[in-house]
Amino acid sequence: MLVMKFGGASLRNTEAIRQTARILDAYRSQTVLLVVSAMGKTTNALEQLSGLAQNRKTEEAWLVFQEIVAFHTDMAKELFPDEGHIIHQEVAEACEHISRILQGIILLEDFPDRTYDRIVSYGEILSSRIVHRFLEEDRFPIHWKDARQLIRTDSDYKQADVNWSLTQEQIETELQPILKEAHWVITQGFIGSNGQGRTTTLGREGSDYSAAIFASCLKAEAQIVWKDVPGIMNADPALNPEAKILSELGYAQIVEMSYFGASVIHPKTIRPLRNAGIPLYVKSFVHPEANGTKIERDYVDLSVSTKSIKRRQSLIKIRQRDFSFWQSNTVAYVFRQFDKIGIEPRLTRISGQVLEIVTDTEEAHHVEAFLGKDEQFEYEISHNLELHAMLLGESEGRGFIKEELQISETALMQKNAQSFFYLK
Ligand code: ASP
Ligand code: MG
Repeated sequence: MLVMKFGGASLRNTEAIRQTARILDAYRSQTVLLVVSAMGKTTNALEQLSGLAQNRKTEEAWLVFQEIVAFHTDMAKELFPDEGHIIHQEVAEACEHISRILQGIILLEDFPDRTYDRIVSYGEILSSRIVHRFLEEDRFPIHWKDARQLIRTDSDYKQADVNWSLTQEQIETELQPILKEAHWVITQGFIGSNGQGRTTTLGREGSDYSAAIFASCLKAEAQIVWKDVPGIMNADPALNPEAKILSELGYAQIVEMSYFGASVIHPKTIRPLRNAGIPLYVKSFVHPEANGTKIERDYVDLSVSTKSIKRRQSLIKIRQRDFSFWQSNTVAYVFRQFDKIGIEPRLTRISGQVLEIVTDTEEAHHVEAFLGKDEQFEYEISHNLELHAMLLGESEGRGFIKEELQISETALMQKNAQSFFYLK
């Protein structure tokens, strides 16, 4: 049994959808769970729509809504010229739901996070409907399944955490039997539901993670993620001409790379796969015959250096007004407060009197709510920095890092034999 994930870029137009079907052709005889994201930039558009509705820009919101409807309707028309095909009804129905939610927001002048989740989930619903019908026409014996009946989460809308035992149970009772019988099932990435049956989402770009949850609960043979890149590279090729494709990579390396900004795979994806011993393949959507990257072992390839960049980072420097140096209890206190206001440290450095924390700029703005009010501390903050993270291998790929090693000491966050971090 394989779990395959196709992202937005792999479904951005009709030609891409046809290519998806061509790729899947080679797997016809297998049992496959297909996990899809929203098509192209649909989630961004839905997010924009919610923002406009929330800010009472009603007219503009309806315009964006119309664009979303037109994009999916045109796609369906091109793929299914028969006007009586059931897909046209399915697309219209999903769009009708979005429209009703939008009317509700405008009427109630209320926009809780749970409404955001309801709206953005339609990107995946629409996409999975269209791909489902297209593969069905292409004689795949495929079933459509709503991921919200399978992935059960808490109620932390926009960033929901998975309830693993409930999810496992749902997947065993609601999904496994269908897979056994029909062999092919399509479902959505990114979305789930909470205890009240309300739609939740797992965080932007969360479909890779969804696929890993399914793979882990189904004890799949492998997860394959189809991408518009040839595999995982040791650096961004647009910035580093020496960057190369890594044919194999350890679980730990990819976790570090994605944690520090390599956008090729969602950082939460690896843990469930690694713990269940399931290999992950990242393969090219354009050249499916190429090997891509295989991640299946707990090892760190010391021969290769990698570089990632995490953008929109903030550096918070904290001192204690009474000249104390940092000790575990004060550090623990600061971190507990950070946890309360939703700040996650990406990188931390403690010297005698300065505690430095790098965190996402979006989150860093909340710091005022704690440090601005607590007399015990004084702090400085700089926003919108880039965090450059390098894991240093022994030889290969070290070339593109050489120059960076000369970087001015002031911007340096941490440096040791294995890794090197600086802010810019
Ligand atoms: N469609 C969602 C997003 O764009 C999830 C994903 O693509 O993985 O964030
Ligand atoms: Mg995406």
